[in-house]
Amino acid sequence: MQEPDDVPPGPATEDVDRATGLLTRARRVTVLTGAGVSTDSGIPDFRGPQGVWTRNPEAERLSTFQDYRDDPEVRRESWRQRVAHPVWSARPGPAHEALVSLERSGRLLALLTQNIDELHQAAGSSPELVVELHGTVHRTECLSCAARAPMSEALDRVAGGEQDPPCPHCGGILKSATISFGQALDLEVLERAHDAAQSCDVLLAVGTSLGVHPAAGLVDVAASAGADVVILNGEPTPYDDVATVVLRGGVGELLPRIVGGTPG
Ligand code: NAD
Repeated sequence: MQEPDDVPPGPATEDVDRATGLLTRARRVTVLTGAGVSTDSGIPDFRGPQGVWTRNPEAERLSTFQDYRDDPEVRRESWRQRVAHPVWSARPGPAHEALVSLERSGRLLALLTQNIDELHQAAGSSPELVVELHGTVHRTECLSCAARAPMSEALDRVAGGEQDPPCPHCGGILKSATISFGQALDLEVLERAHDAAQSCDVLLAVGTSLGVHPAAGLVDVAASAGADVVILNGEPTPYDDVATVVLRGGVGELLPRIVGGTPG
């Protein structure tokens, strides 16, 4: 199990109180999560101190659409790594549970996630409130005929010796049903996320470097519409200047504090 990213000691108490106050008074909270909410569950992020790309910049090719489509060796390496990926045994952590608690308080408008691990749903967040901006790794999609299937079917074939399993229907290239770099987001999904960012009182961005667009731009959408922005992350982000409160620290410790504890 990988260690969570190194995070500095913790924010000032008055900042924690300020964030807690904003979230307690808000009637409509939109949350934007990133890979940092799942590092405590053993799934490495990309750009944090222990991130996959921080350790091995070459790994970025596996998440780049053009490389995956055009290079069979990238696909084979991608399948090799996926079979043994920590996502298959990961369990939700305190940050996921805190967001279930926020939903139960009746103030959660939408949970926008850049994560592809389905840990929010596994924790008990309502699937209808979770907007998966970058898709899910639990399903495959054919690049030719768009047929979708459970990821487990493809992984069984890889375990059985197929290094780059083609689509069982048309022979096309199979890929996880995720948005890689170079692929456009689903327009309907993006519109839902945009609406939720535009109509909240508080946008809470958690465990994300806010370096991936258009997801990161949702912070600006919320701020321009008059919402308070709370950013909780282990490292600085390019949107810290836009935020009403920035909390630098571990999400597993701080998120339960600012949204009122784990669900009981
Ligand atoms: P990112 O890797 O760019 O940034 C993660 C941020 O979280 C970093 O700034 C890091 O310092 C911070 N962080 C990590 N652990 C933390 C902790 N315990 N407490 C506080 N902060 C912590 O991730 P991103 O912004 O989500 O964007 C990268 C892309 O990577 C997304 O598109 C996402 O689809 C994909 N991704 C998803 C997963 C997943 O589903 N779990 C994992 C890796 C990457």
